[in-house]
Amino acid sequence: MNSLTVNLHLMMASFYRPSGRRTRIVIEDAAFPSDSYAVASQAVHHGLDPARTVVRLAPRDGEEHLRTEDVLAFLEREGDTVALVMLGGVNYLTGQLMDMPAITKAGRAAGAVVGWDLAHAAGNVPLRLHDWDVDFAAWCTYKYLNAGPGAVAGCFVHERHVRDASVPKLSGWWGTEPSVRFRMDPDIAPPASADAWQLSNPPILALAPVLASLEIFDRVGMDALRAKSERLTGYLASRLGSAPGARPITPADPAARGTQLSLRVADAGGLVRRLAEAHGVVADARDPTSSGSRPSRCTARSTTATAPPRPSPTSPSG
Ligand SMILES: *Cc1c(COP(=O)(O)O)cnc(C)c1O
Repeated sequence: MNSLTVNLHLMMASFYRPSGRRTRIVIEDAAFPSDSYAVASQAVHHGLDPARTVVRLAPRDGEEHLRTEDVLAFLEREGDTVALVMLGGVNYLTGQLMDMPAITKAGRAAGAVVGWDLAHAAGNVPLRLHDWDVDFAAWCTYKYLNAGPGAVAGCFVHERHVRDASVPKLSGWWGTEPSVRFRMDPDIAPPASADAWQLSNPPILALAPVLASLEIFDRVGMDALRAKSERLTGYLASRLGSAPGARPITPADPAARGTQLSLRVADAGGLVRRLAEAHGVVADARDPTSSGSRPSRCTARSTTATAPPRPSPTSPSG
C-alpha cells in the first residue's frame, strides 16, 4: 500500500505513543533523509521538540558502521526514555546490514517499540520479522524488488498487535474486511492482519510490476538469491579491493552486508559519468559531506524539523 514514507507515518501513527519520560525516537545518524524528516515531524505532531526527541546513533570516531554492541549499550543505558527504535535494516549509504534480531530483542527488552525501515533490505537479505519479534516494518518495492520508482510499498505488523483494539489506527475503507466492504457500513470491521492498515484503493497499474517481480522471487526463493548474491558481491569486493583511490565503506564481512558495495572516491560525480559514457554502467553518487559532522559515539545528536534541504540525490529512486 502507498509508498514507503507514507507507510512509516501510518505505522508511527499506531506505534509511536510517547508518554511520560518515554518519548524518544532512535534512528541512525546516516538515515535516509525522508526518515529523518518523518520522525522529526512525528515529534512535532505530538507537541514535542524534535531536537530533544530524535536520537541519531552514530559510529565511533573514525569508523563507518554502527557497532551492535554500542546500540545495545545505548538501549540498556537510556532505553527507558525510548518510545520507538526505527533503524534501517540495511543502511542505504554504507550498505551495513544491522543485527536486526539482537537490536529488536534489546529494544523490546527496554520497553520500546521496534520498527524497521526495510527499503534496502526487502529483496536483498532474508528477513524473519515474525520470529525476530519485530513490532512493525515498512519497505518499498522499487529498490531490490525491482518494481520501479513509485511502485506500491508494503508493511508488516506483528500478529500480537493485529487483534489489539487499543492500537490506534488511521483508517479507511480498504482497512475493513473485503467481504463486507461493499455493505457501505459506517462502522469498520478490520481484519486481524496488516491489511487493516490499508486506507484506499491500490493503484492497479503500479501493482503490475510488483506482481511480475514477486513471481520471480517466489520461484527462486530468498535463500538461493542470498547464496548467489554473497558470491557475486564477494567477487566484486575482491576485484575492487585493489582499485586505487576507492575506499570501500561497506562492511567486509558478508554477514554484515547485503548486495550493496559503497565506495568512497574523490570525484564521485565524474566517475559516475565516465562509467556511464565509457561502459554503459548505471552508477549512483552521494556526497559524503552532506550527512554533516558526526557525533563521536552512540549519543544523542540534535535534529530539527526545519533543517535546510540537502543537495538533491542524482536518481529519483533514492
Ligand atoms: C528509498 C527510501 C525512502 C523513500 O521511499 P518513498 O517510497 O519515496 O517514500 C525512504 N527511506 C529509505 C530508507 C529509503 O531507502
